[in-house]
Amino acid sequence: IKCIGILTSGGDAPGMNAAIRAVTRTAIYNGFEVKGIMRGYKGLITNEIIPFKTQNVSNIIQQGGTILKTARCMEFMTPEGRKLAYENMTAQGIDALVVIGGDGSLSGARIFASEYNFPIVGMPGTIDNDLFGTDTTIGYDTALNTIMEAVDKIRDTASSHERLFFIEVMGREAGFLALNGAIASGAEAAIIPEIATEVDQLSELIGNGFRKSKNSSIVLVAESELTGGATGLAERVKNEFPQYDVRVTILGHIQRGGSPSASDRILASRMGEASINALLEGQRNVMIGIQNDELVYIPFSKAIKNQKPINRDLLNTIKILSI
Ligand code: ATP
Repeated sequence: IKCIGILTSGGDAPGMNAAIRAVTRTAIYNGFEVKGIMRGYKGLITNEIIPFKTQNVSNIIQQGGTILKTARCMEFMTPEGRKLAYENMTAQGIDALVVIGGDGSLSGARIFASEYNFPIVGMPGTIDNDLFGTDTTIGYDTALNTIMEAVDKIRDTASSHERLFFIEVMGREAGFLALNGAIASGAEAAIIPEIATEVDQLSELIGNGFRKSKNSSIVLVAESELTGGATGLAERVKNEFPQYDVRVTILGHIQRGGSPSASDRILASRMGEASINALLEGQRNVMIGIQNDELVYIPFSKAIKNQKPINRDLLNTIKILSI
């Protein structure tokens, strides 16, 4: 390997810049050339590829978003698109790739690598924490902190007005943000796609709180067809609580922004270094993961295919702590 290309793809996540910095600097430290690819897989197809020196990644560790930009690229889903991507990439002298992104981005990486037989290492960059084989993903901790701060503010108004708030958080069919966000913000309940909660169960939870003379309630709801989202859920339980003023807040894209937390910067830095070490060790088609503070290599096929288990005990924790 002489020249390593790096790209960010899918939804942006805080800490992606710290990852770009770590990959670039570790690669240069080890004598590789580095090229930054703009807008995810799209930049491979449109040939937006820039030589990276150590200075290109100066002063970005603290920035949210990604300096390489990101995009969703339909053309890369086709064999013709990937052929063009491969031709541009090799013409630029790139002979290995580091891809930072979520589930979709790593699926694309897996297909691309197997079609053209060249090394790709992936890094889990998504606020959703939904990649199998890693305890956490780059961006998750920052998003969790953003949710906690937002809920703290909503709590002030909720208790002043005796309101029942349904707060929708992101997660793309995964409940990690809702579940741990609920614990961190002291919410009454978390409604997550992994575990069905019947309306009467939810009513009981909220009703219990009300009887114990709580003057407000907060429920975190993961965005998902399975939960119905905050709006759907609020509609379903509204009639049961005439005493409460039911409100819905959808936190939306604030969850993806902001300066990365210390944990995310450290994780991104360690994983970035590990991605180059993986290539040096001859690893290919693996995602860097972290398990019990140890960096590990997870084959793409495992990281993508398996559903990451959620800790069901945490729902009970929420229940006990909200009496
Ligand atoms: P997030 O979880 O944050 O939304 P993601 O990486 O899952 O991020 P996607 O939009 O699913 O985001 O994927 C990003 C890009 O990866 C797609 O726009 C496409 O270019 C590529 N990609 C996804 N799936 C495939 C696939 N099966 N084959 C080829 N390319 C793919």
